[in-house]
Amino acid sequence: MADIFTGPEPDLAGLLAARPALEMHASAGLCFEGVPLNLIAERFCTPTWVYGAASIRARYATLTEAFAEAGLPLHIHYAVKANDHLAILSLLRHMGAGADIVSQGEFLRARRAGIAPAHIVFSGVGKSVPELEAVLAQGIGQINVESAEELDILSATATRLGLTARVVLRMNPDVDAGTHAKITTGLAENKFGIAREDIPALYAKGAGLPGIEMRGLALHIGSQILSPAPYETAYTIAAEMVRGLRAQGQSVSVLDLGGGLGIGYHDEPGMNPAAFAAVVRKTVGDLGVRLVLEPGRYLVGPAGLLLASVLLEKRTAKRFVVLDAAMNELMRPALYEAWHGILPVDAARFHHPQTPADVVGPVCESADCFAYDRALPDLPPSALVALLDAGAYGAVMSSPYNARPRAAAVLIDACTPHLITPRQTHEALWADEHIPGSEL
Ligand SMILES: *Cc1c(COP(=O)(O)O)cnc(C)c1O
Repeated sequence: MADIFTGPEPDLAGLLAARPALEMHASAGLCFEGVPLNLIAERFCTPTWVYGAASIRARYATLTEAFAEAGLPLHIHYAVKANDHLAILSLLRHMGAGADIVSQGEFLRARRAGIAPAHIVFSGVGKSVPELEAVLAQGIGQINVESAEELDILSATATRLGLTARVVLRMNPDVDAGTHAKITTGLAENKFGIAREDIPALYAKGAGLPGIEMRGLALHIGSQILSPAPYETAYTIAAEMVRGLRAQGQSVSVLDLGGGLGIGYHDEPGMNPAAFAAVVRKTVGDLGVRLVLEPGRYLVGPAGLLLASVLLEKRTAKRFVVLDAAMNELMRPALYEAWHGILPVDAARFHHPQTPADVVGPVCESADCFAYDRALPDLPPSALVALLDAGAYGAVMSSPYNARPRAAAVLIDACTPHLITPRQTHEALWADEHIPGSEL
């Protein structure tokens, strides 16, 4: 599992040095994209998600430039599930991105943000008939089919509507992406995709089905992949499959390369876009297909942080730093044992002596822990901390567990913080609930 980080934990200075959007100012404290986080906490309270527009734009540009330099035209379909906020979707649309969606809700979000149906790809192992009807009626660009059963359902649905679905088959290449077991998707034992050996027959079947236009293949081998090596293996298999299908007389015009490009949660470099583009060129660059990429985390992960306040430090046999943010905001540590950098916002505190602490939230679950034995300076009540790299799979996984209202979200653009989600009110938590037999 070479791609799982095994190095020593970076110290505070190392975390800062690896993140150019963050700067520590002697008086203003920790700043993100030029805005002091103190100021954001003062104006919007905590916990608050803070996203940086410049970071997202820069990451999008780095990726597209790497492909341009490799001489490969690339179509980016942002994986909406990573962060589905309308402001983020709109920003990426303006950069030229389409969307990769996994539900009708995400389709409608993408539409609301102005992304054209033709630029939307529908992925996912289970799509309901009403969902398929809705996206087909709106003229969705591509549907990634994940099973023989789904192909039949889609054919019947499209035919009933008198429409044609543009279909790509998601192949499971049976490649180990070397990532966490809960985010690997390209192994034969995973629920995703169609077994390699079943692709040729299913592709031929699809080409003959009413309401179906076979366009090509898709694959997505997992998430948070840091090395181009598993991609090279998977794309080599995909290229062989495309050639094999064409040799059988099938038309293949699209290759959807999936997402999964990893980021550096510690101080390791994330996926190198130039190295990734080189692998794409080497493996599938000469197929003459439309190349689609579905990055989520890579574009938005490092562009967001969760700003929280310390409620208190509790010292028992251990040192616990209790925050006002919890697993119901950022679930990744509880769900995936994910590691997030944690920085104090106060500049002076940055240089104080550090001792190990468990950084926890107030939710009534032992899993509500952001970090174990993390070296941190003393953090008095109301001290601010930033949980780093929380732009992807953060707010989207939030829940109101323990009747905790949804946190606020702020987008910094050109050094101006914009409130893009106000903090939810307590009343909103039960606004949709009814007590039978009561007027309440
Ligand atoms: C989740 C997902 C993505 C995005 O994954 P990232 O790791 O965020 O890049 C892309 N495509 C499919 C099919 C997915 O399920």
